[in-house]
Amino acid sequence: MNEITHPTIAPVAPAPSPVMVQYHEIKRAHPGCLLFFRMGDFYELFFDDAVAAAQALDIALTKRGRHEGADIPMCGVPVHTAEAYLARLIRAGFKVAICDQIEDPAEARRRGAKGPVRRAVIRVVTGGTITEEGLLDARRHNYLAGLAEAGGEIGLAWLDLSTGSFAAAPTSEAALTGDLARLSPGEVLLPERMLARPKLFELFAEWKPALTPLPNARFESEGARHRLEKFYGVGALDGFGNFSRAELAAAGALVDYVGLTQLDRAPHLEPPRRVVPGSVMQIDAATRRNLELATTLTGERKGSLLATIDRSVTAAGARLLAEHLAAPLTEPAAIAARLDAVQFFFDRSEPRAAVRRRLQQCPDIERALTRLSLGRGGPRDLAALRQSLGETAALREALAQPGLVPLPRRLAEAQKGLGEHGALVERLGRALGDDLPLLARDGGFIAAGYSAELDEWKGLRDESRRMIAALQARYAAESGVAALKIRHNNVIGYYIEVSANHAGKLGPAFIHRQTMAGAQRYTTAELADLETKIASAAERALALELRLYDDLVGEVMACRAGIAAAAAALATLDVAAALAALAADAEWVRPVIEENTAFEILGGRHPTVEAALAAGGAGGGFVANDCVLAEDRIWLVTGPNMAGKSTFLRQNALIAILAQLGSYVPARSAKVGVVDRLFSRVGAADDLARGRSTFMVEMVETAAILNQAGPRSLVILDEIGRGTATFDGLSIAWAALEHLHEVNRCRTLFATHYHELTALAAELPALACHTMRVKEWKGDVVFLHEVGPGTADRSYGIHVAKLAGLPKSVTARAEEVLGLLEKGEEGGTLARLADELPLFSAARRRAEPLPRDSAAEALLRETRPDELTPRDALDLLYRLKAFVE
Ligand code: ADP
Repeated sequence: MNEITHPTIAPVAPAPSPVMVQYHEIKRAHPGCLLFFRMGDFYELFFDDAVAAAQALDIALTKRGRHEGADIPMCGVPVHTAEAYLARLIRAGFKVAICDQIEDPAEARRRGAKGPVRRAVIRVVTGGTITEEGLLDARRHNYLAGLAEAGGEIGLAWLDLSTGSFAAAPTSEAALTGDLARLSPGEVLLPERMLARPKLFELFAEWKPALTPLPNARFESEGARHRLEKFYGVGALDGFGNFSRAELAAAGALVDYVGLTQLDRAPHLEPPRRVVPGSVMQIDAATRRNLELATTLTGERKGSLLATIDRSVTAAGARLLAEHLAAPLTEPAAIAARLDAVQFFFDRSEPRAAVRRRLQQCPDIERALTRLSLGRGGPRDLAALRQSLGETAALREALAQPGLVPLPRRLAEAQKGLGEHGALVERLGRALGDDLPLLARDGGFIAAGYSAELDEWKGLRDESRRMIAALQARYAAESGVAALKIRHNNVIGYYIEVSANHAGKLGPAFIHRQTMAGAQRYTTAELADLETKIASAAERALALELRLYDDLVGEVMACRAGIAAAAAALATLDVAAALAALAADAEWVRPVIEENTAFEILGGRHPTVEAALAAGGAGGGFVANDCVLAEDRIWLVTGPNMAGKSTFLRQNALIAILAQLGSYVPARSAKVGVVDRLFSRVGAADDLARGRSTFMVEMVETAAILNQAGPRSLVILDEIGRGTATFDGLSIAWAALEHLHEVNRCRTLFATHYHELTALAAELPALACHTMRVKEWKGDVVFLHEVGPGTADRSYGIHVAKLAGLPKSVTARAEEVLGLLEKGEEGGTLARLADELPLFSAARRRAEPLPRDSAAEALLRETRPDELTPRDALDLLYRLKAFVE
């Protein structure tokens, strides 16, 4: 039996609009990204994207239409200011897919198309793949890093898409923290399975906003090899270096990702360079922070070592210097080559100034080249190339002066790298006008005389404009309306406007277009005709300009390897000349780098503190100090607070870094045996963001040092054991010092306020005591900032407290307490130190109630002299005398 089935009618919401269907399709193809969906003059965001972006950008969240019965949340940013919003979203850790209209709506109508205009994602913007000037810091690299595992090893690769630099190196779970701190990447790609490595949890938590986990398959080493070979058009990668499988996997994943985000527009990327393990000084993240290498502890560039030494005059020079500072070398010959280049300019102030003047005229062509190669450039990028490449000829010549040759190796290479760009410069010079728009599509950038055809169209366009002016004059004269104007707007094009009371004076040729408040607008057949002519001339001129632009870009691309080499050469020259200028101004010297464990700094200074003192104009200036770590490879530095211990420790670490990056150093003379790893634990900083107390941070950093430092390391330890109770602290400092002496056997500067530690000098032969000299003068303490052999006899903490403005009653009382404590400690304390920590007993004594007043004092206080009889007075005298006996 047949059942009659009734079709059920579900309560369907109205079908989504065709644009929404298109939106969802594109959105689905770009998971994890905000979608900037082009609608006319706006990029619009919908649904959850809109909610997230409105919050991050602090812009209004509105709604547009309904979807499945609910309002669609929406927000939008104008296309012409989108870059600023994009910058904020990227900084906040978002990825943004930019979806544009890829056909002209008018064209779509002409095509007779039914649906919405065609749209497609033209690129995906992520923290590691930005190229726009406005989104990048000109003086810093922005790295995209990638991690991969293969054959039990971890590989790290990194590239700067904005400049084309590309490198890879092996790493490990233990080294990764330091490696990431060195690169400070804007984005880190890694296989999803790596996220689960327990030992990397904490590190990944720290880098969370920058992490982009991707499917494991993208990090497969064989696929990566093929991808790289294809990208560089080579049969084998061996010519680039001897990469491990893990390194290849990481590098391949980067190239893959660049393809994904740039939608397969091939950017300029140098072949990957392999950074050989051990070829750079290892500096862990804490040490970088503590020594304020690239930023201060508060996160600013100003006040950092980099800011102090950076005298470069080009953005590429600044980036190269930052890169050198982040990774000082360990190979004496390589360091000497850099120093030779600096010395060349140090010894020759005239050529140095001349080269720097030329470099000052060189805009950033590394980034211009990348933008052009990604189709994101504009006429100003071409002008930058014309300008900088134009300077290369003069620079090459300046370096070829008879008195200057032969050049040191690095400079000779740079001179060669500058290359020969005469033809391109000449071409760009002829082609480009003076006043250049940012975007080619705005037109008007090709110089007159470059293309006869273009000049003709432009002539026609301008001629028509003159004809409009003539038309206006004629209409005004004929109608007798002197105020008659011919104007233009984007809605109705050209029109004739007269005020309402003159409307009657116009003849029948005037066709009414619009009535405005107090004015009437008209057109005429003549005007419409002229308008068509102007529009078509302008249109053709622009189309031709765009064609010429593409030709020029094509020519640039044909020379891009040479241009990249020139850019690198300019940066090398800038760094060498800038370091030389700094050395000459600040009276720095060339260090001697040796393949041993020497460390002999005579008259060393702290570059940043010295610069700050000089800038502050305070009298006195910086006091230079020696530091010679030889037989005594551990210096135990005692001295009061504020005497300059930290400054002394840091300055020696900084001198080692400067020397090995290939810079002169702030000293009278300096001999540095190559430092392979630098460790510092300085000051106390809470790391509450990671849920660690000050003391925990201190212990974690100290553990890293004691576990890792070797005989070629340099260790700076400032006040360890401060964050806990005195005994704990002293005991830890004591044991750590013994461990450094016996096990690590590294060059060490150890500052402490535990004077008790100086007793260790008797036990540990390689340990020497030094102290910050202090002068007492009329009850005040003067810090001389001089380091000398010996031990501080006192802490002078109370003097510092006085300087800091503690109430007088408190400092007076503290002096009293101190006097008593010191008296209690008399009796061969130091001699017993090696067996027993004296502070234990000191503290036991401290636990007893402190005598508030002596008996004699109490007696005197009660006495009222005016009320004493002579007999009582004599009695009192006897009693007082009894106290002292
Ligand atoms: P400490 O570590 O002993 O407490 P710091 O190294 O922090 O002392 O130095 C305190 C201040 O003394 C510094 O900020 C600096 O202004 C000044 N100072 C330190 N060393 C010198 C020096 N060698 N010459 C001149 N001033 C110095």
